[in-house]
Amino acid sequence: MSGVYDSALMRRTKIIATLGPATDRPEILRGVLENGADALRLNFSHGDWDVRYRRIAEARAAAAELGRCVALLGDLQGPKIRIARFADGPVRLEDGAEFFFDPELDPDAGDVHGVGLNFTTLSDDVAPGDTLLMDDGNVELKVQQTRGSRVHCGVVHGGVVSDHKGVNKRGGGLLAVPALTEEDRRDLKLAAEAELDWIAVSFVRDRADIETARRLIREAGGTAHIVAKIERSEALDNLDEILDTADAVMVARGDLGIETGYEGLIGQQKLIIRRARHRHRVVITATQMMESMIDRPMPTRAEVSDVSNAVMDGTDAVMLSAESAVGEYAAEAVSAMASICRGAEAWMPARMETSPVTEGAFERVDEGIAKAAMYAANHMDVRAIAALTESGATALWMSRIRSDIPIFALTRHAGTQRRVTLYRGVVPVGFDVTETRSDKLLRAIFERLRVEGGLVAGDLVIITKGAITGVSGHTDSMTVLPIED
Ligand code: PGA
Ligand code: MN
Repeated sequence: MSGVYDSALMRRTKIIATLGPATDRPEILRGVLENGADALRLNFSHGDWDVRYRRIAEARAAAAELGRCVALLGDLQGPKIRIARFADGPVRLEDGAEFFFDPELDPDAGDVHGVGLNFTTLSDDVAPGDTLLMDDGNVELKVQQTRGSRVHCGVVHGGVVSDHKGVNKRGGGLLAVPALTEEDRRDLKLAAEAELDWIAVSFVRDRADIETARRLIREAGGTAHIVAKIERSEALDNLDEILDTADAVMVARGDLGIETGYEGLIGQQKLIIRRARHRHRVVITATQMMESMIDRPMPTRAEVSDVSNAVMDGTDAVMLSAESAVGEYAAEAVSAMASICRGAEAWMPARMETSPVTEGAFERVDEGIAKAAMYAANHMDVRAIAALTESGATALWMSRIRSDIPIFALTRHAGTQRRVTLYRGVVPVGFDVTETRSDKLLRAIFERLRVEGGLVAGDLVIITKGAITGVSGHTDSMTVLPIED
């Protein structure tokens, strides 16, 4: 970790920045990391594996050089429906005009009358009166009739459309296909082999999509945890089973806002964040958070409000997409986002008296210890919590409870260190001590907390650990004591 942790400057909410042409410039990538990105996302909707391998290597090298612990997240494209190409470049669709989609049309033969499509069963999945949206909702069409493979529409709100733009249906119901395409399966295997820390599955429908992804990751020898992207109406219907199966969820506001309409989007966001936290899952809020910073050095007040509200709702992480991937102010966007997070956190009630995650029965001893530690910490003048952890689970339970006290996850596993960088309020610390004599172990912990945590003699800390060290799931004690010299 770079430098000494400063509790006055601590930001609990984490930042994910998407890599792209902008961060291919070494000084920009450096700035993105220095300004606070905790995880870097590779968007598999663009580019090929030559570029991805290069970006993975550059990201790891830059993080190592800066002494930063940074997670890598691979984001699968998923079965996104896209139009094919236009013969003579972008077309302008006028309001009231007619336009068709036809998967059997020559993919290069699109024009102002209609265009090809990568989705063969569109005509089975739509009925007259349905609303279709192109290019993230920029063009709205109403289905008039289907004839064979061809779907005829009327243009409700026109605009300019170019090759390969996405198509969504309001209210969901397209994509009767599973979330993982053939290309996703290949990308998933390569991402697992490249030892990425997180893999995001796009257009998840239900638990089966996540179970399949997890099996494929394991088969490839990977340990990546799974982010289920909530971006279709069906995923909202199946939210509880998705939360039970995935490690994290993303409020993927781009596609979700098109499918469900943007009016209800922020209500959905709040519900997803709340439910995820209650079920001990990590939650990421994504898309258009700092959109205007793609070509301006300052966020709009609306963006400040948007990021602040996600922070106040309790999101673990906020994400930058085009802002960091292709924006002119990638590093500035990270730094603006970081200061908005800090600013919003300062205005929240710092500690939670009660929380749904501390009610009801605890299923496991380690869960009980983790929550008891937070309860005690929130009612005392404790400066830090140190969780000795193998898998990071103790730190995850702790971070579901609101607190202004830093949670240091002390672990010998580099993978766990990188994974916990997404947990709100958790600071990863490398700690490779399997000392069984408790006085020696405590001295080693104090030493790490002084060096990495900026704590000083006399600071009260809570330490959780297991009688058996080095084994996952064995946390069975908490100790409250002051740091000694
Ligand atoms: P995408 O997913 O950026 O891969 O489309 C996020 C979203 O839809 O918001
Ligand atoms: Mn999406």
